Amino acid sequence: MNVYISATLRSFFEKNARLDTAAVTIKGLLEWLRDEYPDSGKILFDENGSLRSFVRIYAGEEDMTSQDKWDVELPGNAEVLLLPAIAGGAPENDSIIPDERRKAVSFDDKEIERFGRHLMLKDIGVKGQKRIKAARVAIAGAGALGSAVIQYLAAAGVGTIKVIDFDDVSLENLQSQVIHTTRDLNRPKVASAKDIVRNINRNIVFEAENTKLEAENIVDIIDGYDLVVDCTDNYKARYLINDAAVLCGIPVVFGAIYQYEGQVSIFNYNNGPCFRCVFPAPPPQGLVPTCAEGGAISPLPGIIGSIQANEALKLIIGIGEHLAGKLLTVDSLYLRFKLLDVKKDKACPLCGANPQIRGVQDFDYDDFCGLKQQEEEIPVEGFTPEELAERIEKGDPMTIVDVREPHERAIQRFPNAIVIPIGQLARRQNELDPEQDTIFICKQGMRSILAINTLREAGYKGPMYNLKGGIDAMKDIMFSHEGAWL
Ligand SMILES: [Zn+2]
Repeated sequence: MNVYISATLRSFFEKNARLDTAAVTIKGLLEWLRDEYPDSGKILFDENGSLRSFVRIYAGEEDMTSQDKWDVELPGNAEVLLLPAIAGGAPENDSIIPDERRKAVSFDDKEIERFGRHLMLKDIGVKGQKRIKAARVAIAGAGALGSAVIQYLAAAGVGTIKVIDFDDVSLENLQSQVIHTTRDLNRPKVASAKDIVRNINRNIVFEAENTKLEAENIVDIIDGYDLVVDCTDNYKARYLINDAAVLCGIPVVFGAIYQYEGQVSIFNYNNGPCFRCVFPAPPPQGLVPTCAEGGAISPLPGIIGSIQANEALKLIIGIGEHLAGKLLTVDSLYLRFKLLDVKKDKACPLCGANPQIRGVQDFDYDDFCGLKQQEEEIPVEGFTPEELAERIEKGDPMTIVDVREPHERAIQRFPNAIVIPIGQLARRQNELDPEQDTIFICKQGMRSILAINTLREAGYKGPMYNLKGGIDAMKDIMFSHEGAWL
């Protein structure tokens, strides 16, 4: 039979998630476990040799915890699960930090003073604070969510912090990415992340990865960390992090924001779902804008990021109830918090019963996230900002269609463009001249591609082009040509 060990019990099974045994009954399995992994004895059984009450045993869907089922012969391919109960009697040792590492940590007088307000909390105490210091946490993204997570985890005393981000600081980042300041403009985000961590506590081991997450590097970047905090802003990074974390057996504290709303969850922990179980596929490219496109209210990432940091600390210390199997949604505009149940999908291609994804390198993330042109699709042709500016200056006959929403146009009008929001394009295609070139523009050049594909599907036959990089890329050039901005 095949045995799955729930994450909280793994430290007693040499960190194994899956074990194979020739045993055919639960009784046989428990005897085998006790022989092979002597440490597991004290966590599974009490002093009378009875199974401890917080452990449940399942064979497939069937609850086999009760002793009268222990002699039932199971099929050779049976999937047996050792699951600690979440409610009630949680084992004391519920931390993701192994005891050996906690015991290797000590504090000097300054640290005892610095962390005094943690030490006085009964559930944290010296033991919990040692776990925090022993913890190795990877934070993906040093943007708005990352700003909150990095500061709180550094202040709380996490011993090793790795920050991964490939971006430089830009002026529009400063509205919510509070670890970066005006003097950090054009510096790598990981550089200001390092500064803030150094300023909080010089004893923290800080590791910077100024690089973009790809299938080729993700496993090397996160392997060996206790926890990944996902503070990214794009689907490709989220699936990459999720998949690599599941394959490496690392829990993920997930956070996401958009406009006034946010989500927080913990994936790949305690037999809960992974990101793919909950969101099996990303939305089509361009349909859901990122924060760079859709905006977000300034303190929202602080709220969501702080909850992520709090969840991360709870997993490290091993206290409280956590968000594995739950999705917290926050609506900051109407101030509503909702806690939804999310379930593991048995058919999940990554963490289900028959996983098909066995390595990140074998999976095409660009294709999955719609970042690659489909072969059967006719490629979308586009102009660079320079080419479009030149055509405008020459007075070339063409139609420019602005597919942004009205409030976006209020910030920045594009001169001489007709305005058709993306949702109205198909029914308003008769406003376009199929004899003439039509150029579609949006903020960053993603929705304009979606606009062209939408019209193609609706049967529009005229020549269509996309403004590469959108109005954001056009800004500097247009100033010199038109001066028609805001
Ligand atoms: Zn899954």
